[in-house]
Amino acid sequence: SLFRGLTFLTTVNDLRSLPQEGLEVAFAGRSNAGKSSAINTLADHTRLAFVSKTPGRTQHINYFDFGNERRLVDLPGYGYAEVPASVRAHWEKLLGQYLVSRANLIGLVLIMDSRRPLTELDRRMLDWFRTTGKPVHCLLTKSDKLSRQEQTKILRAVEKEFEDDSLITVQLFSSLKKQGMEITEQIVGGWFSA
Ligand code: GDP
Repeated sequence: SLFRGLTFLTTVNDLRSLPQEGLEVAFAGRSNAGKSSAINTLADHTRLAFVSKTPGRTQHINYFDFGNERRLVDLPGYGYAEVPASVRAHWEKLLGQYLVSRANLIGLVLIMDSRRPLTELDRRMLDWFRTTGKPVHCLLTKSDKLSRQEQTKILRAVEKEFEDDSLITVQLFSSLKKQGMEITEQIVGGWFSA
């Protein structure tokens, strides 16, 4: 399977030093939304996405390799409260530039805590990315923290927001319960084989 073969490739500190070759899928989300856990769960590898995770050092971009010139880009979490607002704003702007102008990028996986999806920053990322016409898949993480009823309610609510946007798909995901991996694999795999 696609994610099971994921290996660490490199860390980039600057958007100007991104690799020139290959196709990539980016994982983005608010800090603490569960992005690292989701990558590790999908890869079935407990520490893969923690390799160079240093809270506060927000500008590290980790590249992982699926093989065959296909990459996963782990973008720094945004909205990290401990970082000064001016630094955060600068970084968010760079993130926007990456999302809008990166030719190697074929799709965005947006990680959102299912208890608090679609925050202002999430919406800003989506607005930027919408201009590219590339697909977005939303993972509503930590779904194990919600009851079955709440899970259905939040999934429907987010789906409803995007009902007119065929490029955006949504699913529930739990790293703790290892739920939802098949759908993610199917969607991201589909992007690479499109
Ligand atoms: P990141 O900052 O987006 O990479 O978030 P992390 O993956 O480091 O997760 C942030 C916190 O949420 C950690 O304490 C995780 O243990 C917790 N977490 C992540 N995924 C899940 C999940 O599926 N279920 C539960 N209950 N907790 C989770």
